[in-house]
Amino acid sequence: MLNKRPITDWLPITKKEVEMRGWEELDVILISGDAYVDHPAFGTAVIGRILESEGLRIAIVPQPNWKDDLRDFKKLGIPRLFFGVTSGCMDSMVNHYTANRRRRSTDAYTPGGAVHFRPDYAATVYTKILKQLYPDTPVLIGGIEASLRRVTHYDYWEDKLFPNILEMSGADMLVYGMGEMPLREIIRLLQKGVPFDSIDTIPQTAILRPKEEGLPKNKRWVDVHLSSHEKCLRDKRSFAANFKVIEQESNKVNARRIVQEVNGKNLIVNPPYPPMTEKMIDTSFDLPYTRLAHPKYNKRGSIPAYEMIRFSINMHRGCFGGCSFCTISAHQGKFIASRSEESILKEVDQVTKMPDFKGYISDLGGPSANMYKMKGKVQSICDRCVAPSCIHPVICSNLDTNHKPMTEIYKKAGAHPDVKKAFVSSGIRYDLLVDGYNKNGDDSLDEYMEQVVTCNIGGRMKVAPEHTSDATLKIMRKPSFKHFHEFKKKYDRINKKAGLNQPLIPYFISSHPGSQVEDMANLAVETKDMGFQLEQVQGFTPTPMTVATIIYYTGLHPYSLKPVYTAKSKEDKRNQHLFFFWYKRENHQQIREKLTKIGREDMIEKLIEDKKKFNKKEVIKQRAKRKGKGGARKGKSRRR
Ligand code: SF4
Repeated sequence: MLNKRPITDWLPITKKEVEMRGWEELDVILISGDAYVDHPAFGTAVIGRILESEGLRIAIVPQPNWKDDLRDFKKLGIPRLFFGVTSGCMDSMVNHYTANRRRRSTDAYTPGGAVHFRPDYAATVYTKILKQLYPDTPVLIGGIEASLRRVTHYDYWEDKLFPNILEMSGADMLVYGMGEMPLREIIRLLQKGVPFDSIDTIPQTAILRPKEEGLPKNKRWVDVHLSSHEKCLRDKRSFAANFKVIEQESNKVNARRIVQEVNGKNLIVNPPYPPMTEKMIDTSFDLPYTRLAHPKYNKRGSIPAYEMIRFSINMHRGCFGGCSFCTISAHQGKFIASRSEESILKEVDQVTKMPDFKGYISDLGGPSANMYKMKGKVQSICDRCVAPSCIHPVICSNLDTNHKPMTEIYKKAGAHPDVKKAFVSSGIRYDLLVDGYNKNGDDSLDEYMEQVVTCNIGGRMKVAPEHTSDATLKIMRKPSFKHFHEFKKKYDRINKKAGLNQPLIPYFISSHPGSQVEDMANLAVETKDMGFQLEQVQGFTPTPMTVATIIYYTGLHPYSLKPVYTAKSKEDKRNQHLFFFWYKRENHQQIREKLTKIGREDMIEKLIEDKKKFNKKEVIKQRAKRKGKGGARKGKSRRR
């Protein structure tokens, strides 16, 4: 079925496919750490389709072999304008290693889930190769790895500070965040004949220039100077203080230009573009994607990340949650760019026409599912705002949290004659849905929740309270756990009214900065009291450019510069994680010992000796139910 489409429906990835298009030369060659999936959820496809829409001759080299004679880097020749390099949809180190720095056994972005198709630090490795082969051809880097390594950053895997990725890799320019707008402007200037190395004032790009050259002139921008890379190496406090500036400037309407000295050069990070308008984002999603993996992979097995999203639809970009451990707002920003209802429903229709569509839309979502169309009521207030989150420590009184536009789309998608069910499997911010926390709420919240619980979940709902300790939650920039209790009551009430029995599945993180062993013991007791036996848990991974990572490395909160405890040794992390699994008999002795050590023997009884409080029968019943109700939606991995 798949092979019925002509190969020219995909962007070319081989010399033969380039020739089939009648091209003798390419304008841009994209090198990617991921397999090529021609779908709007995959960054390389998006960038490729944008370049194509600008009339450029473009080809992709997906997952080139970097260990042989480098023929993959040579096979398409030298592009007229530049090479574009990305590690793929994830930072290559997050893709390759677990929170314990163990090598993962599968790669979700490679056919068959195979590993070793991408190097560690892929964006840097690819760029160095290109610079060695073609020193005169510009290299533009982008994607999550480049974006989140755009200034001096902590690398958990090497356990040290790295300079910005331009310095590491030798690339000529970096595009951070979602690349459409800067890329179109770069192309416009290059097509006019402006030399690549003269392009230095495009928003949302970063460049390196010798210090003696000074800074490019731009009357619109005010500059802010960070502590130099060398100072950060000497002084953790300076490194921590840098982060506050970076985060605030990355999430401001009128941001300053960031300058950081490194090795006798200036790193210049231009301010971001404003969020895309509805028309712009619609245009991006309406590009002629086949929505299919390139046919060359047909015999190599399915691509797990693609399988997960092939029938899903992204309604918006950006997230204003600002969670300390999450990179979404550092990459996509806190302002939401939403597609039109028309564009989303058009995509629903497209999905229903896919060859093996069985009637189930797997996700109508976004970085956080329920932020579609949300923005400040008075834009001039947002224009002056420096808050990294619109919903922490309280929900901003200027934030319009109307959920009606989402409810309408869910209903319309569900009413499509070929759709049996449209799931919402992206994470739902439960705190927006509880009256005790969302003081801006209106009737649309209850209407939304009823719609989701009764029509858009597959037998269970996953939400992410992340911890139960209020002190840790504050550091995480998440609301007090009491609001999760309120949410659960509301959730249970709606289920009861509808005659449904759908378990609530909470997500938690251990070893997050601020979390102590005692907090984890409390978490275990409190969730046990609520009848949960936890499954969706993870240990904190310090990824580049998050508040929590800065705390992990420096021991200081970047905003207050006050010390914060973080579990760092393997043993301390294991001790925290253990409490998620209090119900496993083999952990009981260790739990007894840990609680005795911290003088909380009183919790031993509550946690592992109080048989009455934990309704085992209920858990077994719920587990059996979950097994039977997997439905069309397979477990979606966590987005962080
Ligand atoms: S003013 Fe409120 S709604 Fe606007 S950006 Fe700031 S926190 Fe968000």
